[in-house]
Amino acid sequence: MSYSGSGDVTATLQSVDLVLPPGPTPSTSNSGCEAGDFVGFVPGNIALLQRGTCNFIVKAQNAQAAGAVAVIIFNEGQPGRTATLQGNLGEPVSIPVVGTSFDVGNELAGMPGAVMHVKTDTVSDIRTTWNVIADSKWGDPGKVVMSGAHLDSVPAGPGINDDGSGTAAELALAEALGRIPTRNHLRFAWWSAEELGLLGSEFYVANLPAAEQAKIKLYLNYDMVASPNYAFKIYDGDNSDGVGAPAGPPGSDEIEKLFETYFDALHQGHSGTDFDGRSDYGPFIEVGIPAGGLFTGAEGIKTPEEAAIFGGTAGVAYDHCYHQACDTIANINDKALTVNTGAIATAAVVYAYSRDLPGPDVRPATAARAATAQAANEIHGLDNR
Ligand SMILES: [Zn+2]
Repeated sequence: MSYSGSGDVTATLQSVDLVLPPGPTPSTSNSGCEAGDFVGFVPGNIALLQRGTCNFIVKAQNAQAAGAVAVIIFNEGQPGRTATLQGNLGEPVSIPVVGTSFDVGNELAGMPGAVMHVKTDTVSDIRTTWNVIADSKWGDPGKVVMSGAHLDSVPAGPGINDDGSGTAAELALAEALGRIPTRNHLRFAWWSAEELGLLGSEFYVANLPAAEQAKIKLYLNYDMVASPNYAFKIYDGDNSDGVGAPAGPPGSDEIEKLFETYFDALHQGHSGTDFDGRSDYGPFIEVGIPAGGLFTGAEGIKTPEEAAIFGGTAGVAYDHCYHQACDTIANINDKALTVNTGAIATAAVVYAYSRDLPGPDVRPATAARAATAQAANEIHGLDNR
């Protein structure tokens, strides 16, 4: 897992509060989430844990506190949660922490007292990285229309859908609109270190003076817009599906409606997707900036209902190469990229010229972000749970 320590240990394997066979829904297991799970754990053993309920870092830290010399976390076992885990701890841990598939974990759980050899060889140091931010020379500098995509990929692969797709759409748009005078001011961001926990966008928002923050009237996010088994998902700004994450800040509903209007005009079906904090809009909605954007799906499984609307294959991931080496140019769906780039261009042009941008003209002041950035980081970012 990202942020695992290095180590080479041979020790007895000990299961901790596993749910086998797995429960019917994700996060039935809370293996390792509480210190109490480790009552009876023998210090010096290797902890075998199951994905679910809390972040990987919580499981790893509880195991380490109980004296584990290494941690193996296996996928929980429901559909879509069986592959080898490539998790992200979000902060350094000094012992080896590795992820594995449900099948391997299930097999290990059936071998009580087995002696395991766990070896990790990791590098952990502090590095500098850069967001790339381009400001148009046109438009009212007090009314900034901002959009963003992330430049980095996971180490496992080149990240062409995640997020070369959004990056390319943003670049095409910036080139096209850079020469054209607009009423409002366009700002394009290409974020760094999204996959390590939204580090680039968190840093940007946390270090933005309040007066500059107030000028950003909306933020549009494009992370994975050309998945091979795509669905056209729009961030659920008004929480119209009534489940999962709450609505976005006031004005997010209007952004969702604009995208809906675009897809409706093409007679193209669409659906909603929660503001679950898994991409760079997270820091913006936390400070009350209206947000929206598009997403064609990651490791989630396409439903039969979605296959009826979008085509493709039900029962298969939207992006079967999500965070893997095969996320290459061959992983891009041309239709999804074309339709979504049109949506991205439409939103940019509409908001570049709108007299009345989404949300209140003056937003209530928000608390300073610096104190909350670390806490936010623990719930944000991909693959940390
Ligand atoms: Zn991404």
